[in-house]
Amino acid sequence: MDFAYPAHTESTRRRVRDFLADQLPSDWKGSGALEGDAHEAFVEEWRATLAKHGWLAVTWPEKYGGAGLTEMDEVVVAEEFARAGVPTGGPTDTFGIGMLGNTLLRLGTEEQREHFLPRILSGEDRWCQGYSEPNAGSDLSAVSAKATLDGDEWILNGQKIWTSAGHLANWIFVLCRTDPEAPKHRGITFILCPMDQAGVEVRPIDMISGASEFNEVFFSDARAPRDHVVGAPNDGWRVAMALLGYERGKAAAVAPIAFRDELNRLLSYAKELGKLSDPLIRDRLAACYSKVEIMRFSGYRALTNFENKIPPGPDAALTKIFWSEYHREVTELAMDIMGTPGLVAVGRAPASAFATDDPGAVNSTASWQNVFLNARAGTIYAGTSEIQRNIAGEMILGLPKEPR
Ligand SMILES: Cc1cc2nc3c(=O)[nH]c(=O)nc-3n(C[C@H](O)[C@H](O)[C@H](O)COP(=O)(O)OP(=O)(O)OC[C@H]3O[C@@H](n4cnc5c(N)ncnc54)[C@H](O)[C@@H]3O)c2cc1C
Repeated sequence: MDFAYPAHTESTRRRVRDFLADQLPSDWKGSGALEGDAHEAFVEEWRATLAKHGWLAVTWPEKYGGAGLTEMDEVVVAEEFARAGVPTGGPTDTFGIGMLGNTLLRLGTEEQREHFLPRILSGEDRWCQGYSEPNAGSDLSAVSAKATLDGDEWILNGQKIWTSAGHLANWIFVLCRTDPEAPKHRGITFILCPMDQAGVEVRPIDMISGASEFNEVFFSDARAPRDHVVGAPNDGWRVAMALLGYERGKAAAVAPIAFRDELNRLLSYAKELGKLSDPLIRDRLAACYSKVEIMRFSGYRALTNFENKIPPGPDAALTKIFWSEYHREVTELAMDIMGTPGLVAVGRAPASAFATDDPGAVNSTASWQNVFLNARAGTIYAGTSEIQRNIAGEMILGLPKEPR
């Protein structure tokens, strides 16, 4: 484990700090302090500022509009942004830049890179991820949405579900079954499909938090050009798995910062509500403090491996279980600290709270209630806790594989 960042990232850190000092008002508290429309307007303007100054796709080559920096520089940028309380992009950039763009750089054709990458950065193309289906979630290789070739076009039929930001996107990368006779993992193709067409219907799903951040997406004879395949036809599983590996460095660095910020806020709320005299509450707060520290140190270990180009192993499963289950624990504690008044949502609710509320947020029952409800999703998305435990059991502990 190495606690120091590589020397080459120091100039990037200085540049980011100067950029933030130039762009943000001196009394800036973090985007969580902005409410409703003001928050939305800020996120949009901020994304445009990042695009203009080249901070949106830090590792992409400059010829595609990136900053041409290393992956570790990207981690440093994300870390400084998290400390300042500003996002690294807009609501679809996790999918467009983090997932698809990076995958095109590695596995796409030059034509695909030249066409799509600048359009992702300009915001003209906004992407979402069409992997899960009603009968293919944990067992993703069971996807059954079909694509068949008709001359120069793929014709898509079937359904995707839980499509985050599908209502904001105009493109979707879709895992489709293209050879039903082939073994499950071999007959899948990774297709880039425009959503602005009659054959694609997006239906929002209401979440437990009351928001609708994900959707069902239906394909009824939807069309995609024949060359909009990443990798080769029937080789989509490899592409799909490569795509899931991105952003781990950023997550390792940023998650402990966000969780620390959130825990400090809870601590001040407990004090304000007179709950710190309760030894059981103090005990649970101390346990949460220790867990954030554990995340910080495992984050350093993950970053050391990342810098040394060691691919993520099964220990990534432990990281996922740890942060998502911690987040359920700390938000349950928040509900207990608030007590009965916490059942009524008063004050600002977060714009989105998949991990934590935005930095700069003030304590309110609405904020904590919303983060508490959203924390239930953390142990499901990106692989459920049960699946992560299977991975740990089989690959770390060497237990017998479950029957397939
Ligand atoms: C907030 C959120 C956002 C999401 N965004 C997207 C998105 O943008 N795009 C996308 O494609 N998908 C998205 N998903 C879907 C997500 O990837 C799936 O929900 C997840 O993979 C689980 O699949 P499932 O819901 O089909 O559950 P299932 O796989 O049906 O699992 C149901 C239950 O059975 C358990 N289980 C299943 N198999 C096993 C096993 N072998 N051993 C032990 N237990 C097992 C699971 O752990 C779970 O508890 C999102 C999900 C959430 C919650």
